[in-house]
Amino acid sequence: MARTAKRQAATIIDSPRSRYAELRQILEDRRRDIVREVQGRIRGVRAEGSEKAHEGMDQGETSEVDIQEDIEFALIQMKAETLNKINEALSRLEEGTYGNCFECGEDIAEPRLRALPFAVRCKDCEEARENAQKRERLAQRRGSSNLFYEFQG
Ligand SMILES: [Zn+2]
Repeated sequence: MARTAKRQAATIIDSPRSRYAELRQILEDRRRDIVREVQGRIRGVRAEGSEKAHEGMDQGETSEVDIQEDIEFALIQMKAETLNKINEALSRLEEGTYGNCFECGEDIAEPRLRALPFAVRCKDCEEARENAQKRERLAQRRGSSNLFYEFQG
């Protein structure tokens, strides 16, 4: 019975229509989590702020609260940026371009998208890119040390 269910699930994921549904689900789950977290944080900051205002506190405590609030707002800002990325990914999904590698156009593997919903390259292309960047950095370093020797001489 469990085995049958598993086989059915695999079949569903394999069809392109359901890949779409699956990816959409991943993105929407992520979006819901973030929205909920951001709402919770905003409420937390507000509740804390009004509570502390009534207590009346010295200068030291005030700045500590300020720092805490700055951190909270920075976090909220980051989450908002992630939300933007999710919305972009969702519109790419609508266009039918989401989940395709920017470099080679192949489908990005499902587990990779699950772990990195905003991945725009497949694993192979990403690795190739990282290696190219590494080589570039090495070349730059070599270039600058050559320059150093030239100036010395
Ligand atoms: Zn690729």
